[in-house]
Amino acid sequence: MFCARIVRSIRLFLPRFFNNLMMNRTFTMIKPEAVAAGNAGKIIDMITSNGFKIIALKYTRLSSEEAGIFYEVHKERPFYGELVDYMASGPIFAAILEKDNAVEDFRKLIGATDPAQAEEGTLRKRFAESKAKNAVHGSDSDDNAAIEGNFFFSGRERY
Ligand code: ATP
Ligand code: MG
Repeated sequence: MFCARIVRSIRLFLPRFFNNLMMNRTFTMIKPEAVAAGNAGKIIDMITSNGFKIIALKYTRLSSEEAGIFYEVHKERPFYGELVDYMASGPIFAAILEKDNAVEDFRKLIGATDPAQAEEGTLRKRFAESKAKNAVHGSDSDDNAAIEGNFFFSGRERY
């Protein structure tokens, strides 16, 4: 009787344990022009339909200073000023997403930076206006996903 309860507990616990080990997180923003065009709901629907669980979600707006800090890695690129102005031009949705292989799978779902190069069925193919105004951001590594998530969310805003 006691043994059966232990075996049942192990059988219930083990899959969850391995599932949690495999899960990881990425960070996304629905960018200003996609929000202004009324596409945020459709984009969130596509994200969750593709197996990403929302851990945190916020409707907010970056100041120019914050956008500059967020995209600081691109500081030396010629489009940096344009990128900062654009990202501060209107409200965005920011979110932390969870899925196994989250960073890579989400980059696949958003598609290439330039929508002209993005594959059919990707978010940028469907919603991006141009290479600059490309609708959705996705982290490019696990480390950056953590840094970017921490930029927007405190511990008590994640569920
Ligand atoms: P993101 O980091 O937003 O997910 P990405 O990783 O596909 O996009 P990056 O090279 O990191 O592309 O560029 C960051 C953002 O800068 C792009 O999403 C786009 O908005 C803008 N950007 C990139 N290249 C150009 C360009 N040549 N001209 C104008 N804007 C650009
Ligand atoms: Mg990038």
